[in-house]
Amino acid sequence: MSEVDDAMRGFADWFGRRPIGAWSAPGRVNLIGEHTDYNDGFVFPFAIDHRTAVALGDRDDRVIRVASSFAPEPVEIHLDELSPDALDGWSAYPLGVAWALGELGADLEHVRGVDLYIVSTVPIGAGLSSSAAIECSVALALDEHWGLGFDRPTLAKVGQLAENRVVGAPTGIMDQSASLLGEADAGVFLDCRSLDAEVIPLGFAADGLSLVVIDTKVEHAHASGGYAARRASCEAGARALGIDSLRDLHLDDLERAAALLDDETFRRVRHVVTEDQRVLDTVRTLREHGPGAIGPFLDASHVSMRDDFEISVPELDLAVATAQANGAIGARMTGGGFGGSAIALVIDALVPIVTREVLAAFAERGHREPAIFTARPSQGARRDA
Ligand code: ADP
Ligand code: MG
Repeated sequence: MSEVDDAMRGFADWFGRRPIGAWSAPGRVNLIGEHTDYNDGFVFPFAIDHRTAVALGDRDDRVIRVASSFAPEPVEIHLDELSPDALDGWSAYPLGVAWALGELGADLEHVRGVDLYIVSTVPIGAGLSSSAAIECSVALALDEHWGLGFDRPTLAKVGQLAENRVVGAPTGIMDQSASLLGEADAGVFLDCRSLDAEVIPLGFAADGLSLVVIDTKVEHAHASGGYAARRASCEAGARALGIDSLRDLHLDDLERAAALLDDETFRRVRHVVTEDQRVLDTVRTLREHGPGAIGPFLDASHVSMRDDFEISVPELDLAVATAQANGAIGARMTGGGFGGSAIALVIDALVPIVTREVLAAFAERGHREPAIFTARPSQGARRDA
């Protein structure tokens, strides 16, 4: 596999010796369940066939040095100096993971340093979680190399802690769970309250379906502010309704909620409550009728994000509408919103047509050319060499 070969070769070029092993972890697509994770709800992502690989070599001292094909210079730090304040830039992800392993109970006082070289094919900043891919590949590599024996749910928490406390992004546990627990042709159905995870076969390939990703390349200026504002609305809604989190509200509570909340807060709440139900409906329908039957939930999820949660942008709406008009079984924006990618579930034979028509529609409106590719549900983090 090319990321792994490139990481092994890059390691030798940078550090002048051979690595002792290589590990990799995938990015993810969220099939359904958006802005539900921090409301204690349900998500259903899968690991994709774009991966981040890390080659590792041992050292005699207690220095960690990390280099990446994505960054011009290696960064190094003494293990005794690891702390959120001492780390910034891209190296906050891999070195933040080393710090977070210690926070979650690893005895880092008796381990030796390492050299790491990282290569990724996960598009960065496209909503496919290159951040979880780098965190999880490094977490698994250090766990195995240092003999820590952490299980995968704990390694997911390590990645999340690094992202929350060291990078400073208030994200949930979904991305790391998908990257660590994903399996080929399957999705990870995650209850974000109990953290129970179930691997559910998707069966796309067997049923002649492809999952098309349309990266709009739009990075909206509101991304972080909008995310925080939506979180705040959800918390305000839960407080006004006297519940711990929106997970505790159900479809038949919505009428009562409408009477108690202002219109905007109510629509934010309605998105979360209906989205949780759509995740459950998607999983049930997949089991009973197969992937060809889940389209209506994807379509409804998009409408809810566009109209109730108001996190879509014209490019995402255009990608979704064009895919639907050209035979997609279902389509929706995916990720936190205000830009990033849309996904469409498409019969294999229609993939070239959907691709062509989306490109044409973007060109006609004068939008920047999107990147369009298929994502195969793939195996989670693993040792490769
Ligand atoms: P996303 O997770 O949607 O791709 P994020 O902003 O969460 O976007 O994470 C992207 C950041 O993660 C990059 O800006 C960089 O700091 C870091 N990163 C991801 N992949 C790599 C890599 N291969 N090498 C170095 N840094 C990386
Ligand atoms: Mg990310």
